[in-house]
Amino acid sequence: MSHTLNIIFDFDDTLVYTNELFDIAKDRFYLRMAELGFDDTDVPKLLNDCDIANIAKAGAMKSSCFANAMADAYAELCRRHGQAPDAAVTAEVVELGYQPYNARQRRFPGAEELLQRLRDRGDCRLNLVTQGEFAIQNRRIGESGFDKYFDNIFIVPLKYPTIYVDMCREQGWDAARTLSVGNSIRSDINPSITAGFKAVLLLIRAWDYEKTEPLGPHLRIAALEELDDIVEEMLK
Ligand SMILES: [Mg+2]
Repeated sequence: MSHTLNIIFDFDDTLVYTNELFDIAKDRFYLRMAELGFDDTDVPKLLNDCDIANIAKAGAMKSSCFANAMADAYAELCRRHGQAPDAAVTAEVVELGYQPYNARQRRFPGAEELLQRLRDRGDCRLNLVTQGEFAIQNRRIGESGFDKYFDNIFIVPLKYPTIYVDMCREQGWDAARTLSVGNSIRSDINPSITAGFKAVLLLIRAWDYEKTEPLGPHLRIAALEELDDIVEEMLK
């Protein structure tokens, strides 16, 4: 079909809520540390820094990055307070760090209706591109029930800066006819701008790893429902 528009959706915190699951685990970690007498004001920053360092080290969004960050932050707090890490507490916080990956994700309001409308148009190719571990993301996508709306689902270890340049070449996508929506400047918007897509940022809080300067102009929406008009405009 000559008027086909290629649309790329991010998954986490674009179609389903993810950050809130990490926030629950983080709050439990802060409470546990406070119980141990580690009430340093920078515990949230310490945990975050450990997490981002682990992703950089792994070169991928692995579930072990967050779990190990909990152990790393706990070890650092012990060091500051002149104590040796307790093996049982270390195991406990690592376990806590895996909880977000086992919890069920809530779907964004209007997400399913939007995907159905885009499907029903018949002139859009829908792609889901998500980063993380294959088994975890595959299970979560299945749990969301959104898989049936997509023509293609790609689970990648990391959305690196030129990933969409590579995917255009591999998938034969026409960049000028591609729209990409996601909640992260780093993982969604900048790789999309680099590839020449129309990039749409969904305004929902992203975590610190995702915060960076946008490489160029992009659209910003507060709700998924705003995509219908953008799609309509691109198909004119
Ligand atoms: Mg996301």
